[in-house]
Amino acid sequence: MAPAKAYDYIVIGGGSGGSGTARRASGWYGAKTLIILDGPSGGCCVNVGCVPKKITWNFASISEMLRDGVHYGYDIPAHVPYDFAAFKKKRDAAVARNSAAYDRNWTKEGIEVVHGTASFVDSRELEVELQDGSGKARFSAPHICIATGSYPILPTNVEGAHHGLTSDGFFDIEVLPKKMAIVGAGYIAVEIAGMLNAVGVEVHMFIRGSTFLRKFDPMIQQTLTKRYEDAGVIIHKNFGGFAKVERLDNCPSSGTPHERRCEGPSPDKKLKLIANSGEDFEVGELLWAVGRGPETKSLDLETIGVQVAKHGHIIVDEWQNTNVNGVYALGDVTGQMELTPVAIAAGRQLGNRLFGPPHLKESKLEYQNIPSVVFAHPEVGTIGLTEPEARERFGADQIKVYHTKFSAMFYDVFPAEEKADKPTEYKLVCAGPEEKVVGLHILGLNSGEMLQGFGVALKMGATKKDFDRCVAIHPTSAEEIVTIK
Ligand code: NDP
Repeated sequence: MAPAKAYDYIVIGGGSGGSGTARRASGWYGAKTLIILDGPSGGCCVNVGCVPKKITWNFASISEMLRDGVHYGYDIPAHVPYDFAAFKKKRDAAVARNSAAYDRNWTKEGIEVVHGTASFVDSRELEVELQDGSGKARFSAPHICIATGSYPILPTNVEGAHHGLTSDGFFDIEVLPKKMAIVGAGYIAVEIAGMLNAVGVEVHMFIRGSTFLRKFDPMIQQTLTKRYEDAGVIIHKNFGGFAKVERLDNCPSSGTPHERRCEGPSPDKKLKLIANSGEDFEVGELLWAVGRGPETKSLDLETIGVQVAKHGHIIVDEWQNTNVNGVYALGDVTGQMELTPVAIAAGRQLGNRLFGPPHLKESKLEYQNIPSVVFAHPEVGTIGLTEPEARERFGADQIKVYHTKFSAMFYDVFPAEEKADKPTEYKLVCAGPEEKVVGLHILGLNSGEMLQGFGVALKMGATKKDFDRCVAIHPTSAEEIVTIK
């Protein structure tokens, strides 16, 4: 094998975080940088995550808006047909354009790219199985960053689990099922359930507890779960799990091994889900949304002794250092807030620290007060501590909570009973005598667009008085946050 080709910086993974750190190192500071990736450019977010998800959320929101339009006097039939396959084609094209933009940016910024699967030879050298079939090649650098992301978990204790989809396969669906089962109660389950319900799919959610989004503030958990029930999602609460999934329609006898194993979506799909309780359910499709695992298996981390946590996430310090000198990790593979912008921000800071000017040598991402939005129906947003977390951290007597529940003006023309089913709800969690805002939780129309600015306020250490000093914008829902009593 040819000697290893040398770089200043090698990044394993071409997703948001990997791209972020490579572009900062090469584009800003001229470090000789290589990205090694074994999937599509842009990784999960661009190809099977945030981007196609948000486009699908828009598709579903249009459907809701058409129904709402009737209350504003528009003559819209109860069922407006849509062409999901045509929509999917457009969405796929948008995804392809976004992915191609990554390649263009890497070229523009002088980053070299190798398509293949990397494993560590030692802490400075990688061997890559090249995807073009030309064999193996070696690359070395004094700084190597692992940004390989995560994969959606398929349960191993459910026979026939592979007949269901994960969020990756969800974006292959061309014909929507009439009835869909979704297992899980986190971001992905809630977002996909909301979208499918909005476009008329009968959605059954199977959740272990009695509410969704159990890491969120109780207000969000309770109100959003109720809103989904009111909107027609069938929620199987305190569900004890499935034992088996059977495929009732015929699997194709020819095609790829993947197709013959009956994996992936299909228009005629029919599944029988058998619960541990013995109860069974027939559905057209099943989605597992039970969390994500770190993508590390091909890296041979043991060769260089990189420490991992119980579930395989790479352990890093606040500067994204692993325990091995010169080897860093960021993004989902570390399990630190699995959010695209977090990985990008951590990657840029790491690029600053490793290759930037001296005053940036201590650069690191602050993981506190990171805003996050679940593109549910309606959207929910959160920054900082939940009320129980704040009580635990500061002591119950140090916490003051401001809460409001109201009907957004958008619903003023709706029939009273429908309006009552669509509350908007906000909560401010404040700590100490100065009432510093340590948590903000919002649920309602446009929460996604609303939260970013409040994120700045919390980053700056805003107090309740600062919120009070800000003059309201009328009429909006957001004004309730600065007038809350
Ligand atoms: P989450 O960690 O959000 O949620 C996992 C869910 O799976 C929990 O509700 C958990 O239930 C449930 N679960 C775990 N094991 C089982 C089981 N055996 N049976 C039934 N339910 C089970 O994971 P997701 O996969 O939804 O999303 C992964 C990550 O991706 C998120 O954490 C988020 O950071 C990121 N993401 C962000 C988005 C955004 O910013 N809008 C959108 C999508 C993903 P329980 O509640 O009982 O613990």
